[in-house]
Amino acid sequence: MNGTFWREKLRTGVTSPLHWVSMIVMRFFTSAFTTFVLFLSVTSCGFLKKEKVPPAPVSVPVTAPKTSSYTPRSLNAAPLRNPNVALSGAFQGGEASHSFGNRSKPYIAMTFDDGPHPVHTPRLLDMLKRRNIRATFYVIGHKVERYPHIIRRIVAEGHEIGNHTWKHDNLTKLSNAQIIADLQRSTNAIAKVTGVRPRTMRPPYGALYGAQRQMVYNRLGMPSILWDVDPQDWKRPGPSVVSSRIVNGTKPGSIVLAHDLHGPTVDAMPAALDGLLRKGHQFVTVSQLLAQKGQ
Ligand SMILES: [Zn+2]
Repeated sequence: MNGTFWREKLRTGVTSPLHWVSMIVMRFFTSAFTTFVLFLSVTSCGFLKKEKVPPAPVSVPVTAPKTSSYTPRSLNAAPLRNPNVALSGAFQGGEASHSFGNRSKPYIAMTFDDGPHPVHTPRLLDMLKRRNIRATFYVIGHKVERYPHIIRRIVAEGHEIGNHTWKHDNLTKLSNAQIIADLQRSTNAIAKVTGVRPRTMRPPYGALYGAQRQMVYNRLGMPSILWDVDPQDWKRPGPSVVSSRIVNGTKPGSIVLAHDLHGPTVDAMPAALDGLLRKGHQFVTVSQLLAQKGQ
């Protein structure tokens, strides 16, 4: 039509009113049609988008029992910030040995001796991780060389490593020079594997004379760490006995002795740790506990 219109215009030099009317009508319908097509496209896209939106999730109210101050957290829940991370571990010297920390603060230290064990220690680490608890591991030097990956995991997950001698000798039967050489050998093995040096030591069986403790402290700067809660777990009285002894015996400032060498001791830990949390205790490492002493 346009071609005809312009040919007519060129031929005659004028445009008849009929042509003008037909032009206007035609352009009106063309514009209307285009607008209609555009409208259809936009609205259909809108409908498609709307259909793809998933239905809103149904919120289920979560109810927690009010019977205790501690509620175990789901593994899927967002992890809580561990208040102990910010607690200083820079303890000042003075005492050559410690059996407990500050009695007027809520902090306690769980300690695990004689590991690492290839099965029980990783199991224990899982339990501690689930509860966001930090502990201290008094490891045996020759086992550090044997299970370096477990020692690295202990450090990587925020726990503290302590020196528990090279092969668990009774130090009271050794000379001063032998004691120092033994502890240094273990310290070097730990430092080589993890990059950190232990700051405290625990004598096997708790056996170290006062003069020897002072000698170790003067020479190596490491206080001897004993305990005030001993569940006698190495006698294997059963997990429920071990857990109840720990929960009942622990008070503010306590240092709890346990052995990750023994399977039943690790079996006792979920009940022991949850029981301690319910009583309001807060877990710190031994260095942190010592740093709180005298404050
Ligand atoms: Zn031991």
